[in-house]
Parts: sequence; structure tokens; C-alpha cells
Amino acid sequence: MNPLFANTPTSIFAAMSTLAVEHGAVNLGQGFPDFGWPDDVVGRAADALLHESNQYAPMLGLPMLREAVATHYRAHQRLEIAPADVTVTSGATEALAAAILALVEPGDEVLLFQPLYDAYLPMVLRAGGVPRFIRLAPPDWRITEAALAAAFTPRTRLVIFNNPHNPSARVFDETELGLLAAACVRHDAVALTDEVWEHVVFDGRTLRPLASLPGMAERTVKVGSAGKIFSLTGWKVGWIVAPPDLAVPISKAHQFLAYATPPNLQAAVGYGLGKDMTTFETMRRTFAASRDDLVARLTAGGFSLLPAEGTYFVCVDLPASGIALDDASFCDRIVRDFRVAAIPLSPFYAEDPVTSIIRLCFAKKPETIAAGADALIAARAALA
Ligand code: PMP
Ligand code: GLN
Repeated sequence: MNPLFANTPTSIFAAMSTLAVEHGAVNLGQGFPDFGWPDDVVGRAADALLHESNQYAPMLGLPMLREAVATHYRAHQRLEIAPADVTVTSGATEALAAAILALVEPGDEVLLFQPLYDAYLPMVLRAGGVPRFIRLAPPDWRITEAALAAAFTPRTRLVIFNNPHNPSARVFDETELGLLAAACVRHDAVALTDEVWEHVVFDGRTLRPLASLPGMAERTVKVGSAGKIFSLTGWKVGWIVAPPDLAVPISKAHQFLAYATPPNLQAAVGYGLGKDMTTFETMRRTFAASRDDLVARLTAGGFSLLPAEGTYFVCVDLPASGIALDDASFCDRIVRDFRVAAIPLSPFYAEDPVTSIIRLCFAKKPETIAAGADALIAARAALA
């Protein structure tokens, strides 16, 4: 048995959702919307289930979806991509695993930004990579030139970069992207950019993909996911966009991980990606309104929150909210005693964790947000 996986704790998202069900808690933990999805996209999938193929899809993805991904990124992010550069995967998680397995050789150094999404590190270690961490800290979570200079070495092969960032809810700015791109070029490193939250950005922001910076197109593997774009997290349809020298070995890893992804869901995602700009703007406005609702309620209730620039999440500063418990203890208490689930940030650190911040998901119906906020305010009154 491999001790890496035998000793890995259950994902904090699964653990908190299980506790939420057990205690009948309002679930503001794991990131999934509770208010439905685009009916036309789901209808397209239903139609494809009934009337189209239910056999293996092509290994690299349905040609119409590969085309749709390329067209979508041209329209929304001004990326010049050929459909041949797109590989469809079973969610971003499989895309990340395939990329890491294909690109990392034993002894290669891999840069990771903490707090880090839980799927990265175990795969890097299993591939024999040597992780090096860049620690981002609240309240500003900024990437600095000094931190990059200290982390990059001549053995740096891969940089895994998540933007918009889960869990901090930051959208990294031009200065930070410029510093990171320059460091990748200088060290001839490949960037694996997890941009699954690319459409969930607020207050007039747009995502600047790292691949669009000078010198980056030829060294970037971009990962996307339909789950976040269409509020369909259960579908697990993702993709990789990469130049052929990187895409080919990654597709070889993909062929042994999942081989292919349900064709009917692919057809529906291909249809959805072609919808007009207002569809995506409306989606952003809906999520921003939910964010504002939760932030207003909690601020009025004495909580101190950090800015939420993108993703479904907003972070709460516990000490600034008058709460002395650490993040894990607070989350454990509130799910059991106050029936509201949240996610502590410390599990997102492999070393030197920040223990003062929790993450809340606001992609919820108004009544869920109201119930969650009331429970949190009651918890603060009792625990502060
Ligand atoms: N990367 C990040 C940063 C995420 O937040 C998530 C899920 N929310 C994923 C990857 C996984 O995406 P998928 O469900 O498409 O596998
Ligand atoms: N990405 C989701 C989150 O951050 C969870 C995904 C999962 O549960 N694996 O909450």
C-alpha cells in the first residue's frame, strides 16, 4: 500500500459536507450552488442522452467541444487556440492529475502557492516531484518578487498556479502575473494554470489568463471546468489547453486515467460555451449579489470579512471578528452546535498554516444565505 494515500486525510470538502448532513447544518462549506443551473444546457444533455451516442467519446474529446473551447477562449480571453490544442477531461481534477503525471519527473521541483487546492500536492508527490512552497498570507495574499526569487531554482520544472484563487477569493493583478510570467520564462519553467474560476469574477474584473503574457503561450497548460462556468459541479467535464509538445504527453496520461468523458455532457457543454456574452455577465451578477447579501448580513452581525474578488467564496477573519478559536476548532463547533458548515483554511497549507481564517460559500439561494448568516451570528454571540 502506498503510504502517501493511505495516510492522507479525507478531503476537507467531503469531511465538512458529511458533518453538515449528519447535523442537519446549512452547508456554506463545499463549493457548489444550491439554486439550479441553466435549463437549456441541461436540456441539451438530456436530448443527447436520449438521441445521440452513449458509447465512448473520442479520447481527446468531441470535436465540437474542442472547437467550442477554442472559440470561447478567443471571444472571452483573446487567446489564439486551435481545437487541436484542447483535450477534454473528466473534470479539472483529472486534467490536473494527467498534467502533473505527464510533466513531472522524479526530482523535478514544483512550485506551489499556499493556500493550495487539495488535489495538487498528493499528485506532485506521487509523481516524484519535490514541492517548494510560496506562502501567501491574509489579508492581502499578494505574490511578491522576493517570494518568487526565493522559490525558483534551476531545478524548477513546473509552477502550479490557481487564478482566480480558491480559497482566498483573490484575482491576481497584472503586476503579480507579470512577475510570475517573467520568472517562468527566466527559469524555462512550465506553468500549469488552474483557471477553473475564470468566469466567476466580480466588480467589472475579467480574468487575464497567464498564457496571454509574453513568452507564456508556449509554456502554459491551462485547465478549465464546465462545473464552475455553468453551476454544474456534478458533471465533471473539464479540459486542458496546451501547445502540442505539452498536450501530447498529457493526453497519454489522460488515456489511462479516464480515457474519455461522457459524450452527452460534452455536447451540452459545447452548446453552453457558445452562448452570448450576456449569459456569462448575468451569471456573474447573480453570484455578486449573493456575495453582497452574505457580506452585508455578516458585517452587520459583527464579522470581519476579506474582499472577495472571484470564486464562490468569501473569507472571514476570526480574530478580527472577535473570535479567539482557531479555524478548525471554530468550524467543528459551529457545524455541531450551531448547524452551519464552513471550511477552515489551515488544511490548504502543507506547512506553516494560517489558522485564523475560514471560508464561506455564497453560491446559495437567499434563504440559505439568511439561515447560514443567522447561525453564524448566533455562533459568534456565543463564542466571541
Ligand atoms: N481546481 C480548483 C481551484 C477548484 O476549486 C476545483 C473545484 N472547485 C477544481 C480544481 C476541481 O474542478 P472539477 O470539479 O472540474 O474537477
Ligand atoms: N472545489 C470545491 C471547493 O473548493 C470542492 C471540490 C471537491 O469537493 N472536491 O469547495
